[in-house]
Amino acid sequence: MGEFDDLISANSEFATNFDLAGFDGVAHAGVAIVTCMDSRIDPLRMLGLGPGDAKIFRNPGGRVTAAALEALVLGVHLLGVERILVIPHTNCAMATHTEAELKLKVGQSAGVDASWQQFHVITDQIAALHEDVQTVRSHPLIPESVKVGGFIYHVDTGLIDQKF
Ligand code: ZN
Repeated sequence: MGEFDDLISANSEFATNFDLAGFDGVAHAGVAIVTCMDSRIDPLRMLGLGPGDAKIFRNPGGRVTAAALEALVLGVHLLGVERILVIPHTNCAMATHTEAELKLKVGQSAGVDASWQQFHVITDQIAALHEDVQTVRSHPLIPESVKVGGFIYHVDTGLIDQKF
């Protein structure tokens, strides 16, 4: 106990002025975002959105995985999503390391063998983004009326650059 005290205390302050009650869980801006877990990315603010506006799915690298597709299908059919943005970013550890390098780094940190852990590094970020956008566009449960875009987020400027 105690390891989370600072965050629990910040939460109780947050709850004092809580103004997000009564939301219905629908993406009010009709937007879903797939992006990286990277702490330099503020997915709502970078698109001028706020709480309640968008569905956000994050993982290392911002990849369209099976779990991401589950989220997108639910978003499109049950939660008002009409536009999907896939947004990996510059200087992403998943795209700047080899699988072997990541396994070595994690192994060194863990002090035990990490060679069995898969990280799914990205060898060509643009090619991976293209493939991910195509995967979403061609999904049988995502209708053509849903717009799908592939972007790179630049961590040093805050700009997104549409590639697909
Ligand atoms: Zn990243």
